[in-house]
Amino acid sequence: MGWTMDIFRRTSQHNRGTGARYTKMNSPVELVYWETQSDKKTAQKRELVLKKLGHNKKHQLIYGNPKIMKPAFDPFQYEYYIVAPGRVNLLGEHVDYNGGPVLPAAIDRQMNISANPRKDNILHLKALDLTEETWISLDQLDEKIDVNGNPLPDWALYPAGIAWIAQKRSYPISGVDAIFTSNIPIGSGLSSSAAMEVGFAALWRELDGWKLDNLELAILCQQAENQYVGVNCGLMDQFASANGVVGSALYFNTNNLDWKAVNLPPSVSIVIADSKKRRSLSTSGYNDRRTSCEEAVAILKQNLPSINNLRDVTIHDFSQNSYMLNPIQFKRARHVVEECHRVDQAMESLSKNDIIQFGELMKQGHQSLKDLYEVSLPELDTLVNIANALPGCFGARLTGAGFGGCTVSLVEEKHAKNFVEQLKDGYKKATGIEADIYICKATQGVHVEWRKPS
Ligand code: ADP
Ligand code: MG
Repeated sequence: MGWTMDIFRRTSQHNRGTGARYTKMNSPVELVYWETQSDKKTAQKRELVLKKLGHNKKHQLIYGNPKIMKPAFDPFQYEYYIVAPGRVNLLGEHVDYNGGPVLPAAIDRQMNISANPRKDNILHLKALDLTEETWISLDQLDEKIDVNGNPLPDWALYPAGIAWIAQKRSYPISGVDAIFTSNIPIGSGLSSSAAMEVGFAALWRELDGWKLDNLELAILCQQAENQYVGVNCGLMDQFASANGVVGSALYFNTNNLDWKAVNLPPSVSIVIADSKKRRSLSTSGYNDRRTSCEEAVAILKQNLPSINNLRDVTIHDFSQNSYMLNPIQFKRARHVVEECHRVDQAMESLSKNDIIQFGELMKQGHQSLKDLYEVSLPELDTLVNIANALPGCFGARLTGAGFGGCTVSLVEEKHAKNFVEQLKDGYKKATGIEADIYICKATQGVHVEWRKPS
């Protein structure tokens, strides 16, 4: 039993005899149980608790709870091991479908995919976290069925979608035996889906020699999600998972797809709190917001003929012409116009290393998402209010589409642990809900973590 920052590499070390004396004498070991904790200290504390459990309790933990029991995953048994991170958006919410700039970062929560190529045209995919597997023929992707003619499970649409869009573009594509597991919470707005797409796309890029850079890879993945999975998402999630840079936020202009990495101060932690409220209203709410923005552009265009989207509307032009909009269009469009401006200001703050100003912009961003875009929930407001009042917090806001999901806070590193405890405590007292809270770092985008030497 032990703790590690990289469970799969550690397991492999044990099996290669370079882990610990005990496992050297008693290998091979099999990974039968693991948990993810928010930080090193918590993991070490938890290890002590687990170590003290009696044999029966340990057995029950490993074999008695199918929800947390995962089958073994040793990625180094396969030829390819790909890692693709989730992402958090620091600022610029609901502007990606309005041509605006966003400021996400890839985070050290990741999708791990291991695979061997197959000689036939079958995708054999194992979702370890769901303990499910499926076999799909590359000849039947259009029908979204498995080899037995059953509809594909939802999760399989993401890798199958990548294969499908690649076929449409006439890229070569191999059958694979692939297993995958992720520690990105599913469906809470940290882009577990984009990480899966980008990871599988990177796998096939490596396997079949696709000539795509990471931005092109992200676009391919977005097309798969739009056209095959059927989710009308923007490009930010896939972009961030593909292009992440260690220690940096990514300024991404969704209008012309220019981007650059900007350093985050190293003494600042990104703390993500999962409200545990799932985004039940998200699809219709999201589509309504998009429609309001499109309507606003069409109306404002009468006076501002050069605009193509809300990003093209300056704060001044908006104040001169907003009388043309109905109250809903006004609120939605005002959020977008001001949010784009906030991202530009945030870039200035970062260039001056002014994280206090950056935090203020995050607070304003949340207020706007709550009052103007109306995508917050009482639980998200509670997390944000508690966070903003805690020592060391520069600013907090909901992140992602809203209607549930997570908040993000920038916190002085030395206060981070205390911040997590107090936020957890305060949220539990206010709502009765146990939030999952993660201290994250900005990390590298998708990459081949390991490839078996040939
Ligand atoms: P998110 O905000 O996490 O991207 P989505 O609803 O867009 O939320 O995507 C979540 C879906 O992605 C899941 O319902 C599942 O189909 C798929 N998915 C994500 N992570 C995993 C995983 N570890 N194993 C299997 N499927 C996953
Ligand atoms: Mg998603």
